[in-house]
Amino acid sequence: MSFFGRAARDLFNGSPASTSSKLLLLFTVSSGGLVAYSDSRSQPDEVPASIVNKNDGQKKKVVVLGTGWAGTSFLKDLDASMYDVQVVSPRNYFAFTPLLPSVTCGTVEARSIVEPVRNIIKKRNGEIQFWEADCLKIDAENNKIFCKANFDNNTVGSEEFSLEYDYLVVAVGAQVNTFNTPGVKENCHFLKDLEDAQRLRRTVIDCFEKAVLPDLTEEERRTNLHFVIVGGGPTGVEFAAELHDFLIEDLVNIYPTVKDLVKISVVQSGDHILNTFDERISSFAEQKFSRDGIEVQTGCRVVSVSDKEITMKMKPTGELCSIPHGLVLWSTGISTRPVVKDFMEQIGQGKRRILATNEWLRVKETENVYALGDCATIDQRKIMDDIVAIFEAADTDNSGTLTMVEFRAVVDDIIARYPQVETYLNNQHLGDLTDLLKDAMSEDKKEVDIEGFKKAIHLVDSQTTSLPATAQVAGQQGKYLAKCFNRKNQCKEHPEGPRRFAGPGGTRHFFAPFRYKHFGQFAPLGGEQAAAELPGDWVSMGHSTQWLWYSVYASKQVSWRTRMLVVSDWTRRFIFGRDSSRI
Ligand code: FAD
Ligand code: MG
Repeated sequence: MSFFGRAARDLFNGSPASTSSKLLLLFTVSSGGLVAYSDSRSQPDEVPASIVNKNDGQKKKVVVLGTGWAGTSFLKDLDASMYDVQVVSPRNYFAFTPLLPSVTCGTVEARSIVEPVRNIIKKRNGEIQFWEADCLKIDAENNKIFCKANFDNNTVGSEEFSLEYDYLVVAVGAQVNTFNTPGVKENCHFLKDLEDAQRLRRTVIDCFEKAVLPDLTEEERRTNLHFVIVGGGPTGVEFAAELHDFLIEDLVNIYPTVKDLVKISVVQSGDHILNTFDERISSFAEQKFSRDGIEVQTGCRVVSVSDKEITMKMKPTGELCSIPHGLVLWSTGISTRPVVKDFMEQIGQGKRRILATNEWLRVKETENVYALGDCATIDQRKIMDDIVAIFEAADTDNSGTLTMVEFRAVVDDIIARYPQVETYLNNQHLGDLTDLLKDAMSEDKKEVDIEGFKKAIHLVDSQTTSLPATAQVAGQQGKYLAKCFNRKNQCKEHPEGPRRFAGPGGTRHFFAPFRYKHFGQFAPLGGEQAAAELPGDWVSMGHSTQWLWYSVYASKQVSWRTRMLVVSDWTRRFIFGRDSSRI
């Protein structure tokens, strides 16, 4: 067998031929070259079952809730031989959410973007146990969770069980936010998980089949073919683009009699679609949609949705208007799941909108619960809260003033402890934190007192931002937390985090706080065009960006199996078009 054949077989079996191999695979698809690059991670050395069992009694119990981006990336990197790991999730698979919009129109098949959790954990020699269930309650006081199995049909035996934990990792994601708008739950589609995407795919085809039934008036046919998307964020825009492609590339040939009656509308309460992207991208998207005949209605707030009509309030005039629809997709944002809300009440975070953790991802007001991904946010500590402690720690000669030499000795710890400092320096185009102090020092006196120090630093906290609810953040957090868990003992002995300014003098945090690295974001716009915002304020739009999108999304698949399936779905679509069967 050739080297490639052997390596490929090993990869599909999940055991790379070389433990630290980086593989560059070049697919040549018709006219373009598609580069799929993957970092195939080495598996930890296998631990013989006898050793695992021998340690069983002493191992700390780690319970992980959720198998989405955050939970799965935590599990993939965790050294499971160190802990007794149990995973609870109502879905026994990981779904690659960025490709959900492609599933709604059959560009990619649903099974191509999921990886069974058991495939992921089987590589751990039975060290991780998985339970397909919903966690209904977290009992923070007794370190216990209560779960219910997630089956539609009758199960033999009890469906309910509880688990105890030493550490709990909450990664349950978020749910759609309807803003309590009447009729949304009953009459709208959502695009949050795989079942939503499959339901949407069936309903899109239903709308066409309904529209071609005999004895309908033209108005009725038009209503069946009016697709309304509420929310002009990345999900809504991508669905509109997919639907438009499906229409002009496939459906016009299948339903020629009604092809001119189709209308796609995007309703957005703000002034522009894709308003979290660079302005150039949002206006490029608006222009492209206007050329494609996708109607974008900005400044409209939806007030109710019935099975036949959607009612909106025009923001500038306050006027109400109702339009008939065939399908409404509601994609306006996310909110906290009930199980997390209940947990927040228990720990005194009931007044918050979203669960807060510290910079090490540990839930505030708890000792052993961590939360990551969409279900939580990092409550970044303000530098001004510790300003006196920082001053005192830096003032080593107890003179009541800081010299530049004294300040320099704590600069690295400040930058590591408070990420907003780096953002502030970048935004102000300052090379160094000491520049702030230099400005506060007078010509003759090269020292600052506490008031001068406060004045020099106080603007830094204005750059405190919360991280976006994206797969990128969730994935990086999972990886970070796994690394902390793997190195808990090591770092307790040799702490490697920044100095604890507010804590006992001279001690250090065990770990460096979590730092998010932004690799950019994409917005596919249909017609083989995409827009991308890349690090360094670099914006790219058009056909070449779509090829970049293909290669990045192929490379980001969690396994070689799904990577192959996704690439073959794209190729199938290029050659044969999409499948319009209502399955
Ligand atoms: P999720 O991935 O939602 O996972 C939550 C997990 O918890 C699931 O396994 C769920 O089954 C489980 N769970 C739920 N309730 C319970 C419970 N009670 N008990 C136990 N388990 C539970 N981000 C990007 O960075 N780039 C993109 O291109 C992008 N595109 C997107 C497109 C769409 C259509 C959507 C919906 C999202 C997209 N995102 C994208 C956002 C990204 O998917 C989320 O930020 C990411 O999934 C968050 O990861 P998570 O692990 O926190 O939550
Ligand atoms: Mg001094």
